[in-house]
Amino acid sequence: RVLEGASSVAEASTLAERVVDRLTRSGVFSLDRVINATGVVLHTNLGRALLSPLAQERLRAAAAGYTNLEMDIGQKERGSRYAHVEGLLQRLTGAPASLVVNNCASAVLLALESLARGKEVIVSRGELIEIGDGFRIPDIMRRSGAILREVGTTNRTHIDDYREAITERTRLLLRVHPSNFRIEGFTARPPLKELAALGSAKGVPVYEDLGSGCVLDLRPFGIDEPRVADSLRDGADLVSFSGDKLLGGPQAGILAGKPEIVTRLRRNPMFRVLRVDKAICQILEG
Ligand SMILES: *Cc1c(COP(=O)(O)O)cnc(C)c1O
Repeated sequence: RVLEGASSVAEASTLAERVVDRLTRSGVFSLDRVINATGVVLHTNLGRALLSPLAQERLRAAAAGYTNLEMDIGQKERGSRYAHVEGLLQRLTGAPASLVVNNCASAVLLALESLARGKEVIVSRGELIEIGDGFRIPDIMRRSGAILREVGTTNRTHIDDYREAITERTRLLLRVHPSNFRIEGFTARPPLKELAALGSAKGVPVYEDLGSGCVLDLRPFGIDEPRVADSLRDGADLVSFSGDKLLGGPQAGILAGKPEIVTRLRRNPMFRVLRVDKAICQILEG
């Protein structure tokens, strides 16, 4: 109502500033800065990853003006909105193809729905995890329409468990990063390489949900996390990870892998509902 009375753009922006100022003081904006004293750097309840100054700069620059998001300037025609992020992710992870959705939970849902709806997905009993806030592998599996075929035991799963469970109904071998818990002692889990060899011998794709999205070797800093590039190099056909965990970007879920698999995900009508790609691009550039 205040803005309606403005007679120029300059006056309108001054008035807009006053409106924002009054709203801030009235407590309408509920997202406040807090100090993270938990000792958990990537705290989901406190907004996870912070953006680096360079990423903030790229984001501000891209948000302040129009961009060639879906324009191929060289060809002077409509371009692909995925080309930007795909090129950057290829440099970071070696993945020839990738796509971005709104979080890693939807990445898992999209992957399962696209590749295994109505068919079986084999998962180790030691990897049927709950991440938090209701994200549970068996529940997501049910919502995707894929049928969960659990193998092995809570602490030990062997390559033969997977091999014996594969039938003509199997569409995927799923491996899930345990993320926020650890089982110690009498444990076993086949290396990804072995699982990938089995998958490729049987013609069943291997999909690894990595969660954290580590792109650099963080072992010198005491963090032993598998890198996305390692998963792909060890033979995973598809990998998913969060944009706002170790990658350090805004909330997003990234799927990277073989072009024929990523294409099947991209063709799923669900992708149009879940996709995001503009913000993450500036973050990756940063
Ligand atoms: C965190 C995590 C998810 C969910 O990621 P969001 O970005 O919170 O949706 C899925 N899978 C694994 C293994 C995770 O660690």
